[in-house]
Amino acid sequence: MDGLLAHLRQLLGAAGFREDGDLSPWEKDWRGRWPGSALAVALPASTEEVAAVVRACAAAGVAIVPQGGNTGLVGGGVPDATGRQLVLSLRRMNTIRAVDVANLTLTVDAGCLLTQVQAAAEENGLLYPLSLAAEGNCTIGGNLATNAGGTQVLRYGNARELCLGLEVVTPQGEIWHGLSGLRKDNTGYDLRDLFIGSEGTLGVITAATLKLHPRPGAVMTALAGFSDLNAALRLIDRSRRALDAGLTGFELMSAHALGLVQQWCPPMRSPLPATPWTALIELAAATEAQGQRQLEELLGDALACGDITDAAVATSLSQAAQFWALREAIPRAQALSGLNIKHDIALPVSAIPAFVSETHAALQAALPGCRPVTFGHLGDGNLHYNVQAPEGVEPATFLREQEALVNALVHDRVSALGGSISAEHGIGVLKREELARRKSPVALQMMRAIKQALDPQGLMNPGRLLPD
Ligand code: FAD
Repeated sequence: MDGLLAHLRQLLGAAGFREDGDLSPWEKDWRGRWPGSALAVALPASTEEVAAVVRACAAAGVAIVPQGGNTGLVGGGVPDATGRQLVLSLRRMNTIRAVDVANLTLTVDAGCLLTQVQAAAEENGLLYPLSLAAEGNCTIGGNLATNAGGTQVLRYGNARELCLGLEVVTPQGEIWHGLSGLRKDNTGYDLRDLFIGSEGTLGVITAATLKLHPRPGAVMTALAGFSDLNAALRLIDRSRRALDAGLTGFELMSAHALGLVQQWCPPMRSPLPATPWTALIELAAATEAQGQRQLEELLGDALACGDITDAAVATSLSQAAQFWALREAIPRAQALSGLNIKHDIALPVSAIPAFVSETHAALQAALPGCRPVTFGHLGDGNLHYNVQAPEGVEPATFLREQEALVNALVHDRVSALGGSISAEHGIGVLKREELARRKSPVALQMMRAIKQALDPQGLMNPGRLLPD
């Protein structure tokens, strides 16, 4: 081990290697749920340095935890408590390598922040549409490793759909140069798609070629209040028919979720009178006038037939930003209110009203007074269905004592309705056992075979994603 540390010290220099002092920014996850202890932190500045670090670790039999912005919510990017895993942070690799306007692509280092990538596209009059509340802190490598979703999936797809090529350092320390910007390439197994969503267990993503889109002429945002989720389904259906690909976002927020924002993130509050549910609707249009007309027609019809009770259309960019800020503040408000039991589930959109009412009733029967915080990307069938302790119960105690029961109750319903236990955040440490229970044995066997083929030493992020 000493030989490895001495080698890395020399290879990476003072700027690229940390072994003493406070390593907590790399050892502690965003929620503070899985504090770990790192052997050391490597911060390589180039793909060649990443490859050299990986080769040295492979020779010494030392496990690597790839890390980007460390905003992951399932404990996949922090070391375990043994003090024997090396954190490999990509944060110093943050160069925009190339913008190809003619072919609508952007090639970037994996450690670029998502906001940096969005800005590079914008500077060239184009759009990189991936957008999530952690965008100022998460990296494109982490986004791809988790196949991140966010608020624009309805129109543009998730991180997988927005990636054309990858550069990857394999667990043996070889470099796979797959930075193609081609939109079509049927030459066998799709290696790019294998690494996307693999949560650092198959190799280290060092760069990506991303798909850009033209910027819409105008983007309009509105809030709508309604009392039941079946009305939300009718509103989605109406929006799709009226706007087609112009519908770029349809977010759901429960009254309790908005109440937490009001309580913990003042002065933020919804401009609408309180209703059980609020939707944030976003559309893209050729011109502002066209977008305004489409949105007013849509909401006017929904009001006339009683599907919604109130609506507000943002009249300026800053008001639109305020509407989005309400939605994006929910995870922070929840974190400030104490630990809660998180679920990031996908369901057929049509099954969501039944899921919410049945799960709510079952939770109340099992744990009277517990408080679901329901919000998410309703248009994609993705709910963040989180459960807070009853009033007066200490959140950490609730989490420790009731997490297994609540998870079983929520995930059993998800499975019964044909859903998934992870829509966006991935498996990490948090859902490994659930994956073992819920994934088919044939699927698990194929996943293990892939891992064994690419990482036979099992040194890439062990203890994450794949169940033991
Ligand atoms: P990290 O947290 O550093 O790592 C995440 C995983 O990817 C780990 O398993 C790690 O080992 C692996 N990894 C990281 N970089 C690499 C690399 N270069 N090569 C190989 N493996 C790597 N997620 C969504 O999908 N949608 C949302 O709407 C959303 N909203 C969020 C809001 C908040 C407030 C927060 C805190 C998180 C949110 N997330 C969301 C979760 C998180 O932001 C995403 O998972 C993000 O993609 C993680 O990126 P990161 O750079 O922080 O990765």
